[in-house]
Amino acid sequence: MDAKTKIEALRSELHDHNYKYYVLDSPEISDYEFDMKLKELQELEEAHPEFMDPNSPTMRVGGEVTKNFNTIVHDFPMYSLSNSYSKDDLEDWQTRIQKIIEEPVEFTCELKYDGASISLTYENGEFLRAVTRGDGTQGDEVTYNVKTIRSVPLKLKGSGFPERFDIRGEIVLPYEGFAKLNAERVEQGEEPYANPRNTASGSLKLQDSAEVAKRPLLCLLYNLTGNNLGLTTQMESLTKAREWGFNVPHEAQLAQSMEEVLAYINYWDEHRRDLPYETDGVVIKVNNLQHQEELGYTAKSPRWAMAYKFKAEQVSTTLNSITYQVGRTGAITPVANLEPVQLAGTTVKRASLHNADQIEKLDVREGDVVFVEKGGEIIPKIIGVDFQKRDPSSSPTEYIQHCPECNAELERKEGEALHFCPNSAGCPPQIIGRIQHFISRKAMDIEGLGGETVALLVREDLIEDYADLYTLKKEDVLPLERMAEKSAENLIQGIESSKEVPFERVLFGLGIRYVGETVAKKLVKEFKSIDVLASAHFQDLVNVDEIGERIARSVVDFFGDDSNKQRIDRLRSYGLNLEISEDQLKNESQKLDGLTLVISGVFEKVSRKELQSLIENNGGKNTSSISKKTDYLVAGENMGPSKRTKAENLGVKIISEAEFLEMIDD
Ligand code: AMP
Ligand code: ZN
Repeated sequence: MDAKTKIEALRSELHDHNYKYYVLDSPEISDYEFDMKLKELQELEEAHPEFMDPNSPTMRVGGEVTKNFNTIVHDFPMYSLSNSYSKDDLEDWQTRIQKIIEEPVEFTCELKYDGASISLTYENGEFLRAVTRGDGTQGDEVTYNVKTIRSVPLKLKGSGFPERFDIRGEIVLPYEGFAKLNAERVEQGEEPYANPRNTASGSLKLQDSAEVAKRPLLCLLYNLTGNNLGLTTQMESLTKAREWGFNVPHEAQLAQSMEEVLAYINYWDEHRRDLPYETDGVVIKVNNLQHQEELGYTAKSPRWAMAYKFKAEQVSTTLNSITYQVGRTGAITPVANLEPVQLAGTTVKRASLHNADQIEKLDVREGDVVFVEKGGEIIPKIIGVDFQKRDPSSSPTEYIQHCPECNAELERKEGEALHFCPNSAGCPPQIIGRIQHFISRKAMDIEGLGGETVALLVREDLIEDYADLYTLKKEDVLPLERMAEKSAENLIQGIESSKEVPFERVLFGLGIRYVGETVAKKLVKEFKSIDVLASAHFQDLVNVDEIGERIARSVVDFFGDDSNKQRIDRLRSYGLNLEISEDQLKNESQKLDGLTLVISGVFEKVSRKELQSLIENNGGKNTSSISKKTDYLVAGENMGPSKRTKAENLGVKIISEAEFLEMIDD
């Protein structure tokens, strides 16, 4: 097979797997196999730039940086929708329609997805561009960013699609992805995002498309627009769009009467929480496109469509007090303590107030009656104050200036939303938080020691630093509350075993701001030992792929601090791993430099994944299928006979697991 044919076959295969995974939600191959195929395609494309395709599946990983987004005038304007809030509103709308259309009209009911609206243009079955709604007439071109969204088809499936058309939809960030993104931010000492909707629209305007690619955005589509599309109803256009490979949610339904519309609304008002993403209403459209044309548009919105907004689940209650929490990085979060109230099936006692600006914007004061709403966030939020009920003698909330835990004067850096307590060495929640982070599962993972016990140990003055853990003796902890002989032994044993934890997890455990799990791995791979890392200059750090200035600054600051230096010396004296292990180092070489290896079958001593990293750590290239460029085929048990034949025909050397391990051994 020549390169061009191979490239095309891989592209179409990957487009198809992508569709099965992200649109149909039923993958046929493992993530690993997918990645391997993608890698193979990437390599082929690199070797043959003449076959470049802007819609290749490899474009989904992003990388293009857009400094200024082009303004593009929509071929067809993007209207907004009229809103309705009651049965009466909907019936009035129906009456207006029936004055123009004599025969009975049929409706489609769709959910109103809460995200950022987008218009995608396709030409000859290929994705051409993506434009935000903007003011409805013109928007920003965000093509590169949208390409990274896996549910957006880059090539259409089937046939019969119009030569050129627009399809409109909504880009949303499902709850799960939102929560994960926020957890990562908090872990890195950053402020969490407020809600999925703003995060989705903010993501579209990121300059670096590789960043967008990391966010699990979803594109849901609901409207085809263009000239001579040859369609007769809205429902038909949804079905067609689905056939062409678009992600069109299946909740859409036909309704023959307003009663049926109301039944749909009632059902989803109750069940929308079961959906993986946020919806804020139902959109009702006249189904017949001929009818739609007759009804036409007002200046702002189509007469043939109507949004019905769900009532946000909202209650009012008294704000008893505002308290302030101090996180492990010293970040201060204001918390509203509420008179307990029932909201969306749970009792709410607390709500987040985010930061000083938010308090000022809402003008909330202790004693106010406030409106609380449950949106996409897990923690409910305060959306406003009932000013009519305000005590006229109250005065505006003054944000604290000193740490509620240690009384140090708070700092707020230029351009940052949060206040920080700078007393990291002496502030109890920071001390406890740091140790809790150190022992957490992804860091030292100390068995027999939990967050509560850490707090207790600190409060009892037994430890004030994670390095102190290694000086604890059984006799020290035995007198603690609820500490039995056995649990004391387990605790000490757990601490002892943690000395075996590899360097990358120790580094993550140190709690350097912005150094999350992935960054820690990167740094270890690059610098190999804590001493080399500690003496790295700002510039050395920024030169590392994916290490930005903010992380670099934070690392330099951390190692520049004397107390951190002492802490690290102590950890070293207790025998923790502060450099890549002999084993890891041994496994790193350039012995396979310039060689391409394919692995096939099952292995005895190492897993396929391990084998893959062994190849890479030794400078080799691992591809998934055999070609003339393959140097070795590492053959395990049960290797497919076709692979063997192919290797033999191409003269590729076949080696066993043992022979491979020998190659990289010294
Ligand atoms: P609004 O922004 O409140 O005027 O609502 C109009 C917006 O709702 C449209 O611009 C779309 O972005 C969005 N929308 C969400 N789901 C749908 C849907 N199923 N049909 C039409 N528009 C929708
Ligand atoms: Zn403090």
